[in-house]
Amino acid sequence: MSHDASTDPMWLAPQMLQLQRTRLAGRFPPALLIHDRRGAGGLWLARYAAQLALCRAAQPPCGQCRDCRQFLAGQHPDFMDIEPLEDSKYIRIEQIRALIEDLSMTAHAGGATVAILHPADTLYINAAHALLKTLEEPRAGVTLILVSSVPSRLPATILSRCQRLRVAAPTRAQSLAFLERHRGPGPWPAVLDAIGEAPFEARQLDPVEVAKLAAETFAALSAIAGGHQDISGLAERWARGEQFELRLTCFETWLTACIDRGAGGPGQLRELRTGAHLPESSWDMNIAALLRLLDAVYELRGFRLSSINRAVALEQLLWQLARVRARAAAAS
Ligand SMILES: [Zn+2]
Repeated sequence: MSHDASTDPMWLAPQMLQLQRTRLAGRFPPALLIHDRRGAGGLWLARYAAQLALCRAAQPPCGQCRDCRQFLAGQHPDFMDIEPLEDSKYIRIEQIRALIEDLSMTAHAGGATVAILHPADTLYINAAHALLKTLEEPRAGVTLILVSSVPSRLPATILSRCQRLRVAAPTRAQSLAFLERHRGPGPWPAVLDAIGEAPFEARQLDPVEVAKLAAETFAALSAIAGGHQDISGLAERWARGEQFELRLTCFETWLTACIDRGAGGPGQLRELRTGAHLPESSWDMNIAALLRLLDAVYELRGFRLSSINRAVALEQLLWQLARVRARAAAAS
């Protein structure tokens, strides 16, 4: 992370300033919950907060001192980064036990100790309970930073111990400026149309490939909603592809656009962007059913499944979409 401010995500400036003020006032919280939104930089903000806590310069984070240099090199002895292990969907209790042991020791460098847990909603329930004790009786100088885009999935006992900071949504202009600064020019508007206002996610992607995949995915979903599509074959093909996660993201975007349009609310702008791919207006899909489907797609994204299990799960969701359509047709 550089503190050349021109590369910072501009939309996070108010949150960065708030953290900096708290740090300078000596009131940095022992537990911070960053309420993330997908692709908007929650983890980036957590790392900014961690560096802020570790840096001992007069104007932190300075980027120059020993703490900052160690942190930026990924080698700070009093910084821990906890996420689900390779083959797991959850942060396990063994990981939390090891963390608690590390936290119980005095900081190696004699300064602050910081741990980031992300996504914090993947804390296995017993791991969350183990963590609670540390949250209740924090050692001085320890800061735990939890990052989650669905904090409602965390136990209330954990939530009540954390100071909350919400990640702001970038505007389209801010997202585009960020992407152009980091990746140079490209068909970024089409990428954001496909995946939503998620510049941190967009910057990992090949814009031309995404635009193509999104158009194809939207067309297939509209075909299902229109009652013509080989669902099993489609699920199998999508599940085998390397871009499975991206398909799910496009599925979410498409559902959100249908819901926005159905609700007739602030989604008009979105409809203009993806309108060509939306199902015909002659049928109204049940919004509650679509919301449930959106939830299920979100769930599936979190699982690490084999391609066979992916196909099974995805096929179920696509049939669910076909049924929403069938019910809407029967009702009209
Ligand atoms: Zn520093």
